[in-house]
Amino acid sequence: GVPIALHIFFFQAVASPPSSNFLLLGPSGAGKTAFTTLLETKSSLASNKSHSTHTSQQSTLVTVTLPPTVPTGSNRYRSDNDPSLKEAIRNPIKYRVRDTPGHGKLRVSQGISELQTMSQSKDIKTRLRGVVFMVDTAALVDEATLRDTATYLHDVLLFLQKRAKNGSSSKRTTDVPVLVAANKQDLFTALPPGAVKEKLEAEIDRIRKSKTKGLLDASADIGLEDEEEILGNDEQETFSFKLLEHEVGVKVDVIGGAVKGDLQEEFGSGVRRWEEWVGMCL
Ligand code: GDP
Repeated sequence: GVPIALHIFFFQAVASPPSSNFLLLGPSGAGKTAFTTLLETKSSLASNKSHSTHTSQQSTLVTVTLPPTVPTGSNRYRSDNDPSLKEAIRNPIKYRVRDTPGHGKLRVSQGISELQTMSQSKDIKTRLRGVVFMVDTAALVDEATLRDTATYLHDVLLFLQKRAKNGSSSKRTTDVPVLVAANKQDLFTALPPGAVKEKLEAEIDRIRKSKTKGLLDASADIGLEDEEEILGNDEQETFSFKLLEHEVGVKVDVIGGAVKGDLQEEFGSGVRRWEEWVGMCL
């Protein structure tokens, strides 16, 4: 017969499909490196493997596992006795997260070019499944930080909007949803996720308005046609993530969590709702 080790190898090769990719973006200091490290630690605890440590200086791609109790979009457990839950425990679902360094002015262009590269993959098994845009919810009260964060998010969403428009009619397969991971909810100065959503929407609205105005001025000056797209299309409406979903089909969820702090250390649950979002994309 076939040696047992080989059996195991084949079982794993067949049973766990190639990983799905997620891109982690956001301003520096938001907690991206801490989040990646936490996911790796959780995964290595589950599989008894050691994990590497990294700094926020370079882009890293890590393969991590989804906790078996987190349902996936294609697989929602009805009960603890559900056979698919047992299968998930035996053979945890893996996914990959690419962390992008977030320093200085380079940050946005690096993040966007990573987004470009990853979203061009035609292979259904390696294509980009979602973008996690991480924000420090205790830092958003600062006007400059808010403006900076919203500008970055605006550019990411505009990229996804253009991509959605140029996509083929088989839209479902090309959709890339965005999770705004409202991090550091453990801090008492943190804005709750609802307020984070409102602030980001209002700031993006302002950015949109000043862009439209700039374009009008420019086209008045040199008689150019207005070719630049406006995020969410309908410039008469105030910007909201709902408008974006409705007009363009790009879905944005704002969900609170904490990579560090008591919540995380006591229950390991500060990132649970983000993992559930990841699961829904799979
Ligand atoms: P990056 O630049 O986005 O990679 O951010 P880092 O992962 O380097 O995190 C920046 C700082 O925020 C570090 O000191 C982290 O320990 C801290 N941090 C990350 N997540 C949390 C959190 O959920 N709560 C608190 N209180 N601090 C956090």
